[in-house]
Amino acid sequence: MIYGPDHLELQASMSRLIATEINPHVEAWEAAGAFPAHEVFRKLGKQSLLGINKPVEYGGLGLDYTYATAYHEMLGEVRCGSIPMAIGVQSDMATPALAKHGSDELREEFLRPSITGESVACLGVSETGAGSDVASIQTRARKDGDDYVIDGGKMWTTNGAQADWMCALVNTSDGAPHRSKSLVCIPMDAKGVSRSQKFDKLGMRASDTVQVFFDGVRIPQRNRIGEEGMGFIYQMEQFQEERLFAASSSLRSLDIALDDTIAYTRQREAFGKSILDNQYVHFRLAELKTEVELLRSLVYRAVEEYVSGRDVLTLASMAKLKVGRLNRELADACLQYFGGMGYMNETPISRYYRDTRLASIGGGADEIMLGIISKNMGIAPSARKPQPATTIERAKTPA
Ligand SMILES: Cc1cc2nc3c(=O)[nH]c(=O)nc-3n(C[C@H](O)[C@H](O)[C@H](O)COP(=O)(O)OP(=O)(O)OC[C@H]3O[C@@H](n4cnc5c(N)ncnc54)[C@H](O)[C@@H]3O)c2cc1C
Repeated sequence: MIYGPDHLELQASMSRLIATEINPHVEAWEAAGAFPAHEVFRKLGKQSLLGINKPVEYGGLGLDYTYATAYHEMLGEVRCGSIPMAIGVQSDMATPALAKHGSDELREEFLRPSITGESVACLGVSETGAGSDVASIQTRARKDGDDYVIDGGKMWTTNGAQADWMCALVNTSDGAPHRSKSLVCIPMDAKGVSRSQKFDKLGMRASDTVQVFFDGVRIPQRNRIGEEGMGFIYQMEQFQEERLFAASSSLRSLDIALDDTIAYTRQREAFGKSILDNQYVHFRLAELKTEVELLRSLVYRAVEEYVSGRDVLTLASMAKLKVGRLNRELADACLQYFGGMGYMNETPISRYYRDTRLASIGGGADEIMLGIISKNMGIAPSARKPQPATTIERAKTPA
């Protein structure tokens, strides 16, 4: 257990805010295909919930990452995936590198209003030709005097329709792809920035996802986060918080999907007894609950190690992989036990089924997580060292 009384108090206040300010509006926002990000973020910002582990000098609470995790878990109480995802982009995807490596001036301009909720942030990594293969992005920032002039564009940008600024990964030089990139803050009202219509998606329907185009966008070079050429490395660090967020923010929603299914199958009868009273059903639900608790333990361990300064690339990737897989397995099993009702849009489990499918794709697909894990295990071809021959191999070799 990584939580003490202060963590639990933070969770209780988050739970109240979700119950009064978010959940009553979820149905309307999902139906409208949008939610008022500025309004919701300002409410979170008033309680500093968008900057739990961010520096106090810029309006954050300066707490360690266990507190951020406690808050992420409560986001699972929101009755859709869109709003937690939008909040996560603001606090855990677009701002970690800025908070850690940005100049004071840049943090004053972009981080502070993102913590207070005055500004909405988005993250621009993916492009039309580069999603999983981040190193192959084509957007280019060319130096012109004290400015960068940016051409290219970003794809699948969450919060993109409402965002005030983007944390964007761009090429600032030629050469080795891991040393040629920088992260920059791009105001979304800068001349030359345009956005597509919102995409029509399978799930996450209240979240706005757009394509963003850059046509000769001029920004000062001081909008660069940290050192030039370090963008790829900073983004890989930033992905660790994104992946921990993906796992921790799903824990309560996994619990709730199970609780909803237990409640439904307990009262629904077939063949003279409740659906839940079939051993096949309650054993399956017990097995899934065990999987959720295993994931929770993995997340807590990764967070503890992260807080103590250790490298958690492998553990965060495992948690991200597992949450994608488990979301799919649990959503599918639970929807099944709702029968025809599970297939109806009015039943929360059907939204859960649609929304959670993204977890195996966004922020690095399952296969990318498996690539990282196997590389760190030393079993991927790129990481494999020559091993001494086994006894069987030696026996096959003629003396
Ligand atoms: C709703 C939504 C919101 C998003 N929000 C953002 C955002 O805010 N900012 C942002 O930058 N991006 C965002 N993304 C993009 C997301 O991160 C990418 O979709 C994801 O990284 C996968 O990239 P891709 O779609 O280009 O898939 P591709 O790279 O084309 O890959 C397709 C599939 O191929 C497989 N694959 C790829 N590489 C390998 C491999 N080496 N080995 C085996 N299999 C492989 C995987 O199954 C993968 O899913 C969002 C996406 C969606 C759908």
